[in-house]
Amino acid sequence: MRLILLGPPGAGKGTQAQRLVETHGIPQLSTGDMLRAAVSAGTAVGLRAKAVMDAGELVSDAIVNAIVAERIGESDCASGFILDGYPRTLAQADAVEAMLAERGLKLDAVIELVVDDKALVGRIIKRADAARAAGQPVRKDDNAEVFEERLREYYKKTSPLIGYYHAKGKLVGVDGMADMDSVTAQIETIVKQVAKS
Ligand code: ADP
Repeated sequence: MRLILLGPPGAGKGTQAQRLVETHGIPQLSTGDMLRAAVSAGTAVGLRAKAVMDAGELVSDAIVNAIVAERIGESDCASGFILDGYPRTLAQADAVEAMLAERGLKLDAVIELVVDDKALVGRIIKRADAARAAGQPVRKDDNAEVFEERLREYYKKTSPLIGYYHAKGKLVGVDGMADMDSVTAQIETIVKQVAKS
């Protein structure tokens, strides 16, 4: 099963991706996590990406596409994966198509977490507060100012993917404002339908 989770920052993609990992045993491919790992490791990619991420802007398509192309070739991706935070631009969406076509594969579904913008900044602040309280590192981009930029980037560059996947008949929306367990239940219903078709 190959799924994309689509939605603005704070929509709950990471949480739901984790649950899919547990239930279905396929890996979560989060470009945000991969980039943060590159930043922590101080790799060439990490050094180039850090300032862009801290400002809430998007890392270049070339960098992100290369990371994902390498990752989906690994053996644990053979029976499927969940793309979380990728693709984020139309150029990235075209790149996914090409990566899959090369392997004779296709996407099963693109699940859009539909949320109310006004709730998002609150969720991000809560996440930062919880991390701080637990003595964990707080993401540099999890604050109100940078969040505004992340949301602007989402509307400018990522939201066109909703139309792109709708036109391909791949888009399914779920109510991302419902509680976490109901969102999971909605996603499981979609996964079951996809598995049947
Ligand atoms: P969120 O969805 O909560 O904003 P992510 O962890 O997915 O957080 O991404 C954090 C940052 O990493 C983004 O703001 C961006 O700078 C970078 N990033 C992650 N995925 C991509 C991508 N597919 N294309 C470009 N930049 C990305």
